[in-house]
Amino acid sequence: MTTISFKVVILGAGVAGGYAARGLVEGDESLKGQVCLIGEEGFVPYERPALTRGYLLGKLTSDDIATCAYEGERHIKDWYPKNGVQLYLNLKAISIDFKKQEIKMNDDSIIKYTDYIILSTGSASREFGSNILGYNATNLFYMRTLIHGNKMLEKIILEDKKWVVIGGGPLGLEVTSALCAYERDVTLILTSNTIMQPLFSKELGGYYETKFIENGVKIIKSGARVKEFFVNEEGIATHCGWGTEDRVAGDFFFGGIGGILNLELFDDLEKADRKDGGGIKCDEYLQSASYDNVYVAGDICNYPSPMFDNKRLILGNVRNARATAKYAATSIIAKLNNTFKKNNYFDYLPNFYSDFLGYLWEVWGQPGGDFIMIQEAHPDDKSKKTVLGIWVVENKIDAIFLEGGSKDEHRTKAAQYVLAKKSWGKNDKLESVYEFFSDNTICGDMFGAQPWNKPGSTQCILPAACQGINPNDCGCDTM
Ligand SMILES: Cc1cc2nc3c(=O)[nH]c(=O)nc-3n(C[C@H](O)[C@H](O)[C@H](O)COP(=O)(O)OP(=O)(O)OC[C@H]3O[C@@H](n4cnc5c(N)ncnc54)[C@H](O)[C@@H]3O)c2cc1C
Repeated sequence: MTTISFKVVILGAGVAGGYAARGLVEGDESLKGQVCLIGEEGFVPYERPALTRGYLLGKLTSDDIATCAYEGERHIKDWYPKNGVQLYLNLKAISIDFKKQEIKMNDDSIIKYTDYIILSTGSASREFGSNILGYNATNLFYMRTLIHGNKMLEKIILEDKKWVVIGGGPLGLEVTSALCAYERDVTLILTSNTIMQPLFSKELGGYYETKFIENGVKIIKSGARVKEFFVNEEGIATHCGWGTEDRVAGDFFFGGIGGILNLELFDDLEKADRKDGGGIKCDEYLQSASYDNVYVAGDICNYPSPMFDNKRLILGNVRNARATAKYAATSIIAKLNNTFKKNNYFDYLPNFYSDFLGYLWEVWGQPGGDFIMIQEAHPDDKSKKTVLGIWVVENKIDAIFLEGGSKDEHRTKAAQYVLAKKSWGKNDKLESVYEFFSDNTICGDMFGAQPWNKPGSTQCILPAACQGINPNDCGCDTM
């Protein structure tokens, strides 16, 4: 049995793992050679959202989506040895002794951390279990990893067949969007009365449903979860159903039924309450509640947000993964160098995005309360439809929904809008939002309901981050 030691170990080589590794060695040269990143997948860390939006569309390769592509740096395999990060791929941790600071791996080796560990094991796809008839059908797909992506891509490219997508959350809808780009026949099954429940109001969900229908998607509101797959003698599902007489026929089925946090190794760490979303309980410095030298980043991290009266947050989205990882790396460096300042907590405005049919939308803030959707023509250009949503709690805007967007500064303004906790009266109009943004030309870009990342689009989400790469080539609009 071999034992190897590193000053800092990052467990989980996904989005957060990739950003944390960069943060450590770029933040402190002396850490080069002292950092190790462990991942059970056979790929370098990659920008997972790009799986559905770039990779599945055949626009990007696995190298294109390597972290930190979103920020203009693609760390393909040789980046790691060149930058003093020992990257172990295809290696799975099977147990951790946090007292001894030892991780046992599935090849019987032991990896020790002498100072800190960052846990970034993320989530796995929720799959239909053995309680569902036909759950192991060979034509049932999921999407979390490049392996999933490759399996699906092979079928989408080769065969013009009928797909049934189960689930109207972001994953199901991003996959539906990709299938639409290939002009496949798609039926989308929702258990709820609209897509993206409970985040979207009926009106906002309906707005996107119309777009999916215009793209040929058939939407079935089953009102109940899919309970069975009818499988033929070759193990191939031909239909799915939900316990009634109704059946939906398909050649391929996609399960977009959510994710499960990868927490199985962490029995010894305190968890956050279920009502607070679960995950590993951390403080506002992202240190686990159980051990000071255990930092947590990405999907599994549950932390209090001083910005939201210390409400506990657990955010399964990519910007949170990048931000928590960078923060953990910076904090560890500060601790190692005795420069850590107590008031330097993780100060982050939650925000996330997705893209349906090429329409990018974003949410800034922590949605709650009543949702008001405003769709108006731009005051200066009536031909421009605008989509804006506002979540209002006690007459204060708590979160903002935007469709469209092209530049960093627009986002900054959206964030400022939420942070200013603007009041919102019943009779307020979109004009007051425009006033806040002060420059109508910027608003025009920002709210224009034109999809900006349809194939061939020249607009780029973060021009500055592309570091001179032609926006047509950079692909960062898909990360
Ligand atoms: C298809 C898809 C599309 C998405 N689109 C969006 C989007 O549009 N917008 C958005 O905000 N978010 C999106 N997300 C969510 C976003 O990608 C995640 O929130 C983000 O990847 C979380 O990062 P993470 O590092 O915590 O976990 P992950 O990126 O999942 O990485 C965790 C890694 O840890 C590894 N691991 C786990 N356990 C072990 C172990 N025991 N030993 C070794 N390795 C282990 C896993 O194999 C994995 O590689 C999307 C996710 C998917 C799957």
